[in-house]
Amino acid sequence: AKEMGRDHYAFFTERMGSDIRARLAMQQQLRGAICRDEFAVHYQPQMCLRTGALLGAEALLRWENPVLGKVSPGLFIALAEEYGLITAIGEWVLESVCAQIRAWHDAGLGSIKVAVNLSGKQFAQDRTVPFVEAVLRKYGIAPACLGIEITESTVMGDPDKAVAALTRLKDIGVGISLDDFGTGYSSLGYLKRFPIDVLKIDKSFVDDVTTSSSDAAIARSVISLAHNLDMRVIAEGVETREQVDFLTEHGCDEMQGYYFSRPLAAAPFTALLRERRSL
Ligand code: C2E
Ligand code: CA
Ligand code: CA
Ligand code: CA
Repeated sequence: AKEMGRDHYAFFTERMGSDIRARLAMQQQLRGAICRDEFAVHYQPQMCLRTGALLGAEALLRWENPVLGKVSPGLFIALAEEYGLITAIGEWVLESVCAQIRAWHDAGLGSIKVAVNLSGKQFAQDRTVPFVEAVLRKYGIAPACLGIEITESTVMGDPDKAVAALTRLKDIGVGISLDDFGTGYSSLGYLKRFPIDVLKIDKSFVDDVTTSSSDAAIARSVISLAHNLDMRVIAEGVETREQVDFLTEHGCDEMQGYYFSRPLAAAPFTALLRERRSL
């Protein structure tokens, strides 16, 4: 037993050590990633369930590093938040998205609406809203072409500050989506307090919507709740025809998911826009 315990311990420290080393390596690489131009924004289409039209996209950050390879945003975003790098990275994302919207506009591809994920750490800083206003002005973009996605945890840190920031963004015309709806706490209180335009039904409810009666009931309730509050509903993580049918039948407004498309790099997304415009 003693032997086993020691082995177990050795394994544990070894794994922990390598985890810490991995985190350190990632932190070091992350610091230089903007300068080395290692980030890219991918765009996942958001489709109208009623008409099938391409209405917009969610911007999703990608990081590819020569040492670490492709790192999942789930990992590096959390690390960037922890090490105080998220504001710079978040501002890079906002600027890239606005430049891209401008390019699509100039190419005659119409004005597409792009939603950007905002971290709570960004929200806690007074510079975020002025930055959004400045970058919209810099690229001459109508605020209605930009949306932001927040989660309950984004705003939980300082709800009063978040309400003020979101109200300012909404006043200038930037759309606000509440992401991962139903996975956190006190969702209903937030719905009343925050100026939200769109509810996103979390993938965890969409996954089993056609096989679990409770998930189906939750999805239906979220849709009617949102509509009663004059909000639109986007289902995320839609992967099957059956899910599309269910969501359409129950009046969900938009969908996003692998069923239609994975997140796409700017070039293939532009090709998709062209293809759609020429229909
Ligand atoms: P999220 O905001 O909930 O984004 C949705 C995630 O679901 C994305 O993962 C997307 O690629 C994935 N997804 C979309 N459709 C499907 C589907 O049909 N099936 C499955 N299995 N997955 C689907 P991704 O790109 O790995 O991003 C993970 C999280 O990282 C995001 O979750 C978001 O919280 C965060 N994130 C990504 N980009 C940014 C960013 O620019 N800023 C901040 N603050 N967070 C970001
Ligand atoms: Ca999101
Ligand atoms: Ca989400
Ligand atoms: Ca999520």
